[in-house]
Amino acid sequence: MNHNTREIDVAVIGGGPAGVAAAIAARENGAENVAVFERDREAGGILRQCIHPGFGLHTFGEELTGPEYMERFIKRAHEAGVEFSLNTMVFQMDEPLAENGGKTASFWTMNPDRGVERVKAKALVLAMGCRERPAGALGIAGDRPAGVYTAGTAQRFVNMEGFMPGTKAVIMGTGDIGLIMARRMMLEGAEVVAVFEIMPWVSGLRRNIAQCLDDFGIPYYLRHSVCELHGRERLEGVSVVEMDENRRPIEGSRKFIGCDTLLLAVGLIPENELSKMAGVKLDAMTNGPEVNEFLQTSAECVFAAGNVVVVYDLVDFVSEEGAKAGKSAALYALGKLSDGGREFRIETDSRIRIISPQKLTGGQDVTLYLRVGEPVEGKCELYAEHGLFSKTLRYARPGEMNEITLSAEKLQRLPADIKSIKIGLEVS
Ligand SMILES: Cc1cc2nc3c(=O)[nH]c(=O)nc-3n(C[C@H](O)[C@H](O)[C@H](O)COP(=O)(O)OP(=O)(O)OC[C@H]3O[C@@H](n4cnc5c(N)ncnc54)[C@H](O)[C@@H]3O)c2cc1C
Repeated sequence: MNHNTREIDVAVIGGGPAGVAAAIAARENGAENVAVFERDREAGGILRQCIHPGFGLHTFGEELTGPEYMERFIKRAHEAGVEFSLNTMVFQMDEPLAENGGKTASFWTMNPDRGVERVKAKALVLAMGCRERPAGALGIAGDRPAGVYTAGTAQRFVNMEGFMPGTKAVIMGTGDIGLIMARRMMLEGAEVVAVFEIMPWVSGLRRNIAQCLDDFGIPYYLRHSVCELHGRERLEGVSVVEMDENRRPIEGSRKFIGCDTLLLAVGLIPENELSKMAGVKLDAMTNGPEVNEFLQTSAECVFAAGNVVVVYDLVDFVSEEGAKAGKSAALYALGKLSDGGREFRIETDSRIRIISPQKLTGGQDVTLYLRVGEPVEGKCELYAEHGLFSKTLRYARPGEMNEITLSAEKLQRLPADIKSIKIGLEVS
């Protein structure tokens, strides 16, 4: 195959909040050629379609919409000299090449003007974000009529393309995108009949329940699921059933609800097909790359940040982690990244479902992001063993992330035979 090969210092795949922050930090930390490869027509990632406010409180101290938040970062990236390669799909990744006494990342891009190109980069940041769990993954009975969308697809239709997906909607799942779309559908003149959640708790942020459902009088039902779609060409309604504690349908609880649209907000899956091709080790719980405090994956020249690593609840943290990954990638490309020399595995107790990073070297202070598996409604103690961290929480809920900060200095002071650090939650 005829192709050009480009050689750059730091390549970033994905132009969302994580990727743009990574590219800025890479330039600010000395990398000469930094390029972002983005398959969409503009940078900004999912935030381009998030036209509601609520972004940036942590970073800028003011409430911005998604596009406003991203505009600030994209402007900074242009000022810093980051190159954006838009309309460019990365479709193939090689395992890192052993070149010039180190490792080099190598991948393949497709662009309508330039065709297929190969890119070789001294360091690479994976920032491909996540995708939504689709209808096909749920096994709902019935025909496959039009009118069933993931909430994010509907969000793009309404907020970016100017199409309404329907007039009377049911929402399945209490993920944040579904809650935000419930409000958006109401604001655009549709009726939202109800939101159904299979679990006994909501999976989104409490503030979204208050602002998107309660304020608009939209009822939500826990322990309920859509079990059948009705309609052949177009959705005419759904059957909903109540679940018992073992998530089995309760006999006699099934009811029909008329609607022409079903929006699914039933989970996000980190987008890691490219990571697998690069031979990067994935974590079974997060479904993202296993990383250390430098956001370095098991392939030493490959770093990762944002929702590709773990699904975050606030974009501000995505940008912060993106900046860390970009800095680490730049230092690696310049041959200046030195780890702390220790090898700690992060272990968790049974209350914690996911955590990232999963391994530490004691090379720099680190924030661990974690989610619990089930809600704890009441005082509890989040801790890291060996006296590294302790914090009293008023509650812990699966929809809201918790953070633990560990100091590199304390990690380095631990006896040499300590190889793991347990993170846990004690309920009083
Ligand atoms: C539908 C949806 C709606 C959301 N709404 C909200 C919200 O309202 N509020 C909130 O706080 N969070 C929301 N989130 C979470 C949000 O994704 C994160 O806060 C944040 O956008 C994650 O940033 P990221 O850079 O990791 O990923 P993304 O923003 O998803 O960016 C990833 C980028 O990578 C690009 N990409 C992926 N694969 C390739 C490839 N092979 N080649 C080239 N480019 C590629 C994508 O096109 C995309 O631009 C939403 C998520 C989704 C999926």
